Amino acid sequence: MAIREDVIVIGGGLAGSVAAIEAAETGASVRLVTYKKSTLRHASGLIDVLGYADGDDPVVDPFAELDDLPADHPYAIAGEAAVRDGLARFDEITGETYQGSHTDTNALIPTFSGAVKPTARYPAAAAAGIASDDRPMLVVGFEEMTEYNGEMLAAHLEAAGVPFDVEGVECNFPGEYVNDSRVTRFAKRLDIDETVDYEGRSMGAREALAAEVEPHVGDAERVGFPAFLGDDHAEAVRTDLERHLGVDVFEIPMGPPSYPGMRLEDTLKDAVDEAGVRISAGNPVVGFEADGGEIQSVTVDSKGREVPYHADEYVLATGGLVGKGIDSSREDGVEEPIFDCHIPHPEDRYEWFDEEAFGDQPFAHFGVVVDETMRPLDATDAPEFDNLRAAGAVVGGADTVAEKSQSGVSLATAVVAGEQAGKQAAKHEVSQ
Ligand SMILES: Cc1cc2nc3c(=O)[nH]c(=O)nc-3n(C[C@H](O)[C@H](O)[C@H](O)COP(=O)(O)OP(=O)(O)OC[C@H]3O[C@@H](n4cnc5c(N)ncnc54)[C@H](O)[C@@H]3O)c2cc1C
Repeated sequence: MAIREDVIVIGGGLAGSVAAIEAAETGASVRLVTYKKSTLRHASGLIDVLGYADGDDPVVDPFAELDDLPADHPYAIAGEAAVRDGLARFDEITGETYQGSHTDTNALIPTFSGAVKPTARYPAAAAAGIASDDRPMLVVGFEEMTEYNGEMLAAHLEAAGVPFDVEGVECNFPGEYVNDSRVTRFAKRLDIDETVDYEGRSMGAREALAAEVEPHVGDAERVGFPAFLGDDHAEAVRTDLERHLGVDVFEIPMGPPSYPGMRLEDTLKDAVDEAGVRISAGNPVVGFEADGGEIQSVTVDSKGREVPYHADEYVLATGGLVGKGIDSSREDGVEEPIFDCHIPHPEDRYEWFDEEAFGDQPFAHFGVVVDETMRPLDATDAPEFDNLRAAGAVVGGADTVAEKSQSGVSLATAVVAGEQAGKQAAKHEVSQ
């Protein structure tokens, strides 16, 4: 049976999920076509809107900086209302599992490198670690985890000048483990509260972990753990540890595999389902058919079989250089692989990079150029197609990694692209 929807969104990361929900809110029938896992499971789970502008100091209020951004910045194109709408949609989707919506001001959240990161929204599980809180802190690391050291993290935080006393400790994760165990095994053990032998007694893993940490708590009023405190039952794990330790417990965002990122991925998937969006997962979009500047269908590679998916409107949310929404090669330069949308870039490859490792890297700005309704533009600034919009990391114009604005840009561009696609699809229906 032919697949036909009002709107097809390509890409199931933060941008594609939010664009699909936004389009569905307009009453459109929406299908999300996505291929591999998104970057969320590698991400910290923090939602950065603008952490750094033109100096080394973190931005206090991202909204106060928006007017000073260059004209080709996605925020300048989408507008402040889009940034606010994107965050509002995110808050609605995540509910009590995220905090930060009470203020425009960035929060400073400790991360596993020992830095404090300016961010707009953070998981509730990370909230007690906020750096503007002056309560003494204990940071726990584990001998079995080589990528994270509690004592070093505490020393880094102290060197960063945090306004509270911070101690670090290396503990042993209760139960039998080979050295260098995977974070997923710790998380699972806590999630199911597996029975372990601890100091000659059998007890639940959560109680045993608390017993291991408790002698080090001292004056600390909050205790930070690497962000692996459970998966499906993360809140119960944290609450149990708080009960046993008698202090607030929080998670410190860390690198992959990122439980906060995976939990956010689950929350988004539930929200997409709830919005009535149909999902086609596991097969890539590899091409399209167009007629007179309008896309008629996209081609999905279904195990070697090319299947057309038809819609009135399309949203491209395939990610950036990391997500493979943008490709680069010596032979072909920088490309958007599905629709071959224009991506401005210097022909000379040496001009893609700045010699200074921390300089303003031209390649970090690569992406499609969009108009205010998020339609990708060609080299003459005309829309590539009337019915194609772009959202997320595939949109260029800013070094979102350096300025810490990745998720904010994804949300702002997604709400505009999704809403516009939904509304335009309704117009198609009326005119038919
Ligand atoms: C390591 C890492 C850390 C990060 N940390 C932070 C952070 O601390 N704070 C923050 O705000 N943001 C962070 N981010 C950014 C954030 O996770 C997202 O990458 C960003 O918001 C872009 O999301 P996206 O939806 O545009 O792209 P992606 O997450 O890349 O999703 C794109 C999706 O499109 C799919 N796709 C690609 N091509 C096709 C195709 N042809 N057909 C069908 N589907 C396709 C991909 O499989 C993928 O599922 C981090 C990202 C990474 C990689």
